[in-house]
Amino acid sequence: MQRPLADAYGRVATDLRVSLTDRCNLRCSYCMPAEGLDWLPLPEVLTDDEVVRLITIGVERLGIRRIRFTGGEPLIRRGLVDIVRRTRALDDDLELSVTTNGLGLERLAPSLAAAGLDRVNLSLDTVDPGRFRTITRRDRLDDVLRGAKAAHEAGLTPVKVNAVLLRGVNDDEACDLLAWAIAHEYELRFIEQMPLDAQHDWHRDQMVTAEEIFERLDQEFTLTPAREPRGSAPAELFLVDGGPATVGVIASVTRPFCGDCDRVRLTADGQVRNCLFAREESDLRSAMRAGASDDDLADRWVTAMASKRPGHGIDDPSFLQPDRPMSAIGG
Ligand code: SF4
Repeated sequence: MQRPLADAYGRVATDLRVSLTDRCNLRCSYCMPAEGLDWLPLPEVLTDDEVVRLITIGVERLGIRRIRFTGGEPLIRRGLVDIVRRTRALDDDLELSVTTNGLGLERLAPSLAAAGLDRVNLSLDTVDPGRFRTITRRDRLDDVLRGAKAAHEAGLTPVKVNAVLLRGVNDDEACDLLAWAIAHEYELRFIEQMPLDAQHDWHRDQMVTAEEIFERLDQEFTLTPAREPRGSAPAELFLVDGGPATVGVIASVTRPFCGDCDRVRLTADGQVRNCLFAREESDLRSAMRAGASDDDLADRWVTAMASKRPGHGIDDPSFLQPDRPMSAIGG
């Protein structure tokens, strides 16, 4: 019998974000320092079998219907394709996706598609090689663009592109990014930068707000609200110049959407986070390695969701940024 991952506010989580690693092959300035971070010790990282076991419990017992593989950078996880294949084997109707920076996607796209992946979310903030170097501290834009093309050609569509605008860095590139995405039939979403960086450098006045994003896009495009209901989707969708092209804005900070949140996260070291900004975690890894049954693990997971807060609380004077950085939580 299925048990819903319900919280005290009537929300039910059916969308599981699985971080497969905290490591990354880029060094985005708004995410981590140039030297990287102290990565999770490998013995603490879930094995492929442990990942698949927890996903199976989520799908078969707890009503999970969508799974997004994230990181760090999930494409550097050697067992990714096999994990996707084993997850797909659980249920043909599951929606499976990956959030990736695109490095390695050109090589892996065909095998990910064959393993049963549905689509990809590509994190890309600029199509200018110089700015890419500045933001990511790597000279790899061409690899990312070829990766996006390969994903599109492999049928991992729609290729959704998530872009963060940084004040004084790429915030004048909104229209170019949208024109580029439309030309390639990619679905672009702008995301407000969130206070989840490892350096704890985030400042609200430095963040480019949704209002500012609309102002920039209005200079060259006419946006009208998309007709389809938003549901629990983070992005507010707009038709571009009457459609069919769309653009999305994920205004986590200024226009939060926590009231309809249906997401739950599993970290690479086996912790359940009931919210991106959760300050508590529930340790499934230790219980699993101590011999816990699937029933027991399901109980712990249900309990972890019950204490989910109404929202991220970024606007609360008492707001504290989580200790765990975004790179170890996943998008
Ligand atoms: S901040 Fe937390 S509650 Fe709000 S939408 Fe994100 S995960 Fe859900």
